[in-house]
Amino acid sequence: MKKRLIVIGGGPGGYTAALRASQLGAEVTLIEKGELGGTCLNVGCIPTKSLLESSQVWAKSRQWYPEATAREVPWSSILKRKELAVSQLRKGVQGLLRAGKIKVIKGTASLAGGKTVTVAGEEALSLQADAIILATGSRPSLPPIEGMNLPGVVTSDELLSIQSLPKRLAIIGGGVIGVELATVCSELGVSVHVIEAADRILPNMDTQISQQLKDHLEKQKVVFSLGKKLEKILEKGGGSLELSLSGGESVEADLVLVAVGRAAVLEPLQLERAGVEVVRGKVKVNAYQQTNQPGIYAIGDCASPIMLAHVAMAEGKIAAEHALGLAVEPLNYDLVPQGIYSHPEAAMVGLTSEEARNRGFDIEEGIFPLMASGKALVSGETTGFLKVIADKKYGRLLGIHLLAPHATEMISEASLGLTLEATIDEIIKTVYPHPTIAEGIQEAALAIKGQAIHLP
Ligand code: FAD
Repeated sequence: MKKRLIVIGGGPGGYTAALRASQLGAEVTLIEKGELGGTCLNVGCIPTKSLLESSQVWAKSRQWYPEATAREVPWSSILKRKELAVSQLRKGVQGLLRAGKIKVIKGTASLAGGKTVTVAGEEALSLQADAIILATGSRPSLPPIEGMNLPGVVTSDELLSIQSLPKRLAIIGGGVIGVELATVCSELGVSVHVIEAADRILPNMDTQISQQLKDHLEKQKVVFSLGKKLEKILEKGGGSLELSLSGGESVEADLVLVAVGRAAVLEPLQLERAGVEVVRGKVKVNAYQQTNQPGIYAIGDCASPIMLAHVAMAEGKIAAEHALGLAVEPLNYDLVPQGIYSHPEAAMVGLTSEEARNRGFDIEEGIFPLMASGKALVSGETTGFLKVIADKKYGRLLGIHLLAPHATEMISEASLGLTLEATIDEIIKTVYPHPTIAEGIQEAALAIKGQAIHLP
């Protein structure tokens, strides 16, 4: 008899788990309360990247061909282009689930104890399964600060569909979402002010990436208040908002984007009814995505230490395969690539220099600045660098950090290299095509040996 699997949540984690389980012959039901594709497709990865493509084309054409470019930002066309991509991809997910013979139920699911799931939707349902995968994702966090509920204070969910752009935007949080949306808005002519509590933007990235990207954004007129905490937001009249920061600084804005992190969506699940354990606001899982209750798994933003779509998808496959009896290898979180789609893009895989040293490695680093890249020069994008970190003893790659156009594409090669435990000698003997920005990865590896060709 076929095994019955229920997946709760139709984001990238949930639909990947459902599709993999169906490939393995299970009878799969997926329950989604909102839109298929979840955060990533509807208010996350895809809409932001559509806006970033549009804002870059706009900014570049204004810079290169001012005589041929309209004066007004075509914001409504930019939004339409984004919505078209989202609806097309949503239909794609629907089609894949249909082809996989997955039963999709619209409604809010909760656990009823054991392996029973109840659904509140057009009709109330009670379903039984052999295994359940929780994939309920996350939502924006709002810190408990005065003024968070004022009109004009929004999260990324609202900003991505806002009907008109503000003149002045304050962004609370210089993490990935804050930096990507600062890029979009500044390229479209909005005055952007980023407020970050840490002493640098993107605090988890390589320090040189944080510094150079900040310097570059400052040249695009983005203002930063680093090491500053938001204390309150007040209405000033005329639609203007005043933000009070620690240290007595104040910032005025027409719109405030709060981008300080995301919290797992757990409440509707009623986890306590099935005795599923929660730790620090997320479902507790082991390396196979199993919760403390047999046959109940959790994946993606509601459980994972890394809130990224490709992590949710990888965990979704692990959960589905484990639930259906396959031998699976746990995910190595050290090898998860991360990308920031700012202009230039930033991407990393593996360890930063500090992390590598803290783990006791004796390391060596090679850097290739984009100023020396012909391809970067013709693209008009010479800000950035490619950095290779290797262990001194065997030359094994430990981390690759990129600040460059197409960094989020190039990082895949680096991920493969780290997964295969490649060494700098193997990068050096690989033939890279010219002219490309990626050939700079080889130059960075050569720089470690003092043999770079295009560096003095
Ligand atoms: P989600 O995508 O959040 O999906 C969960 C789904 O579960 C939702 O559709 C929700 O409606 C449904 N649900 C919740 N509770 C219930 C219930 N009780 N019953 C039924 N359905 C329920 N990640 C990247 O890797 N790359 C990026 O470029 C990137 N950009 C981002 C940009 C922004 C602005 C944001 C906000 C996020 C971005 N992310 C990015 C993160 C990425 O979107 C998430 O990591 C990813 O969507 C997590 O997938 P998930 O399947 O765990 O959850």
